[in-house]
Amino acid sequence: MSAIDHTHAPALRSWVPGADGHADFPIQNLPLGVFSPNGEAPRAGVAIGERILDLPALLAANLLSGTAADAVEAAGATLNGLLGLGAGPRRALRARLSELLAEGSPARNQVAPLLHDAAAAQLHLPATIGDYTDFYVGIHHAENIGKQFRPDNPLLPNYKHVPIGYHGRASSIRPSGIPVRRPRGQSKPPDAAEPVFGPSRRLDYELELGVWIGPGNALGEPISIGEAHAHVAGVCLLNDWSARDIQAWEYQPLGPFLSKNFASTISPWIVTAEALAPFRIAQAPRPEGDPRPLPYLTDEADQRLGAFDIRLDVLLMTPGLREAGLAPHRISASNTRHMYWTVAQMVAHHTSGGCDLRPGDLLGTGTISGPDLEACGSLVEATLGGRQPLRLASGEERRFLEDGDEVILRARAVRDGFASIGFGECRAEILGAVA
Ligand code: MN
Repeated sequence: MSAIDHTHAPALRSWVPGADGHADFPIQNLPLGVFSPNGEAPRAGVAIGERILDLPALLAANLLSGTAADAVEAAGATLNGLLGLGAGPRRALRARLSELLAEGSPARNQVAPLLHDAAAAQLHLPATIGDYTDFYVGIHHAENIGKQFRPDNPLLPNYKHVPIGYHGRASSIRPSGIPVRRPRGQSKPPDAAEPVFGPSRRLDYELELGVWIGPGNALGEPISIGEAHAHVAGVCLLNDWSARDIQAWEYQPLGPFLSKNFASTISPWIVTAEALAPFRIAQAPRPEGDPRPLPYLTDEADQRLGAFDIRLDVLLMTPGLREAGLAPHRISASNTRHMYWTVAQMVAHHTSGGCDLRPGDLLGTGTISGPDLEACGSLVEATLGGRQPLRLASGEERRFLEDGDEVILRARAVRDGFASIGFGECRAEILGAVA
């Protein structure tokens, strides 16, 4: 697991205007992404304050060497090649970027012209996502959902033994800002004799952490729990949009299908494993009486430092709030510490049967809810299945999402003695269903 070094020093300052103290992208973060400045071709970049540094241009200006140069050479219009190189080149690139962007850098005059205004740039998916898998490691979410179906026995008997997941759909993942069209689908209202087809009436979001896979493994060669962290390049925010009415009708016996494959939205920056080093914490001890994970999921170092302390927020902007000039409504605040399984356990379990993970694959953690109603990671939890609507300052009520609503996910990692970092927004607006 990556170490804390000089790139995390809280006293480190940048010459880039507005970077110091930036809520998401101070010099201690340096997340990687793919952007198009002013309509130009997509290329690799790093976010710093309200600017994006053009990485291929940095290479062309001979400001990178060694494995830092290898990292950028491996990146084209997507970062898959860079992710495949693993932590060494990524760490070298981070160290060099930190040096170039730090106050007092002798290269400042060469680097400054290679910065672009983030507001004028288009952000793309950072990698071509070959495969996307969604887990279910948020235990409070699993309990909340389970209670709505089985009040006496919310968790199924496998939950504390197996990191539950399903294979999702990669083709419909989009970066923040791309609107989501309300899906149509088949559902069977409880009072109806026959199923109907039409626009979903119970459209929901899911607050998740996305995990970017680095090198990955060959088919038939599992990644052991002790090696799993070396295959995690970084993380992002993930909104796993979910149509609850479609889901309730279709999910048995094979799990979610069209209720989740119409769209997923991610924050476009890869916050690297290196940037997250100060925010690693011990995995919370399992409650008394819970089973111990099997040996293939047990690693002492992973238990000691394999969890993250990252605050997660969900905000909702509605047509009514927008019209009244009001701020988005904060629906909930949660934290990645509420994961029952670690990211390494997800990776080790995923590959334990021989399945190969490839650079740029994306894993979702599943909805991360906290123990309270104010920490719910989905509307179906926050409104108790739609029975208790949210009341907004505009006078509007919400049981599920309506057309024109915009869901905004944010993440922020904070620790005393370190610079706080954020992920950038994961936001999208709901458009009406096709006629
Ligand atoms: Mn999900």
